[in-house]
Amino acid sequence: MDNPLIERMRVYGETIFAEMTRLATETGSVNLGQGFPDTDGPRPLLEAASRNILEGVNQYPPGPGRPELRRAVSRYRSRHYGIDLDPDTEVYITVGATAGIAAALLALVEQGDEVIVFEPMYDSYAAMVTLAGGVRRPVTLRPDPATGRFVFDPDELRAAVGPRTRMVLVNSPHNPTGTVFTAQELEEIAAVCREHDLIAFTDEVYEFLTFDGRPHVPLATLPGMRERTVSVSSVGKMFAVTGWKTGWVMGPEPLVTAVRTVNQFLTFSANGALQLAIADAIDNEGEWVAAQRAALQGKRDRLAAGLAETGFEVGVSEGTYFVMADIRPLGYTSGVDIARALPREAGVAAVPAQVFYDREKEGEHLLRFAFCKRDEVLDEAVARLTAWHHRAS
Ligand SMILES: *Cc1c(COP(=O)(O)O)cnc(C)c1O
Repeated sequence: MDNPLIERMRVYGETIFAEMTRLATETGSVNLGQGFPDTDGPRPLLEAASRNILEGVNQYPPGPGRPELRRAVSRYRSRHYGIDLDPDTEVYITVGATAGIAAALLALVEQGDEVIVFEPMYDSYAAMVTLAGGVRRPVTLRPDPATGRFVFDPDELRAAVGPRTRMVLVNSPHNPTGTVFTAQELEEIAAVCREHDLIAFTDEVYEFLTFDGRPHVPLATLPGMRERTVSVSSVGKMFAVTGWKTGWVMGPEPLVTAVRTVNQFLTFSANGALQLAIADAIDNEGEWVAAQRAALQGKRDRLAAGLAETGFEVGVSEGTYFVMADIRPLGYTSGVDIARALPREAGVAAVPAQVFYDREKEGEHLLRFAFCKRDEVLDEAVARLTAWHHRAS
C-alpha cells in the first residue's frame, strides 16, 4: 500500500526524538534528551491516586472533568494571579496539556488561518496547526547579546501579522529556551492581539517552575486579554508526574466551549481517579512545589556550570526543565550531527534544537539539555562530556 497517511502530515512521520531515545537506550547513555524527572511527585498525591482506584473511582468522570479539580484550578489561578474563572464554564479538564493544545487548535483554527508561533517551538504545535489546516508564521527567539536571554524582536512579531492571522501561540515559561516572558514582552504580544483582534493561546505548563524569584505572568492578566485568551496547564510539570497526562483548558466561556465541542469527540474525558488526587495536591502541596522549584534551580546551575566548563556556550534558562547550549565554541556547527554522535562517543543524549524551528538554520548550532535529573546523573553526564571533549581535542 502507498503511504496511507494524509499528505499534510507526512513530514511528521519520523521524529528525531524516537531516534535519540533508541540511540540512548542502545548505548546506555545518560539521557538528558527527554524532559521527565527521575524522582517522584509528592507522596500524598501518589497515595491519594492509588487509594482512589482501590476505593472504586474507576468509571467515566464527567466530560468536562471532576468538579473538585475544576474548582481547585479556579482557586489556584485566583490565588496566584487574581484570575477569576467559573469552574463550571471556564475550566475544562483534558488528557494532558497535549490534548488541550490539539483540541484548541482544531476548534479555533480554520483552514488557511495563520497562527503566529514563537520558535523554537514545542513539537506538538507545528503538527497540530498543520492538522487543523492552518499555516504557521514563526517569530524567532534569539539570544539577546546583553543578557543572553532568548528574546523576540517586536518588529518581527508585528511583521508576522497578516489578514489571515487568527491566533498567537505563546509558551511561557518557554520550552526549550527557558525564557520567561516579562510583563513588558507580554504587553508587546497583547498589543498586537488587541490591535488585530487575535485569539491568544497560552501554554503555561511550567508556570510554577521559574527561577531566581522571577514571576510567571499569565497573558490573560494584561488589559483587554482575558476575553481573548485561552490557556492550558497541566499536572505533569507541576508535580513531576509527566506520565499522568491530566491538564486543563482555561478561558472565557465561548473559547472553552469551542475547545470542549471538539475534545468531547477526541477523548471525551480524562482519568477520574487522578483528577481527584490532583485537586487535593493543588490545594495542599504548595510547599512541595516551592521546594521542587528551588531544587530545579540548583540543577540548572549545576548542569549549566558543567556544560560551560566543557566548552559549550550556555543559554540563560529562567524556568522549565531545559537549558540550551551552543556547540560552536567547541568547533562544531551541526547540532544534528553532534546529537547523533554523542550517545556513541560520549554516552550522553541531548536533543538537537533544530527540530523545534521552521527556519532550521536558526537552531542548527544548538542542543537542548534537560536538567530535571538527580544530581549524580547530571554530574555523570558532565564528566562524560568533559572526557569526550578532551579525547576529541
Ligand atoms: C510537557 C509539555 C507539554 C505537555 O504536557 P502534558 O500535560 O504532558 O500533555 C505541553 N507543552 C509544553 C511546552 C511542554 O513542555
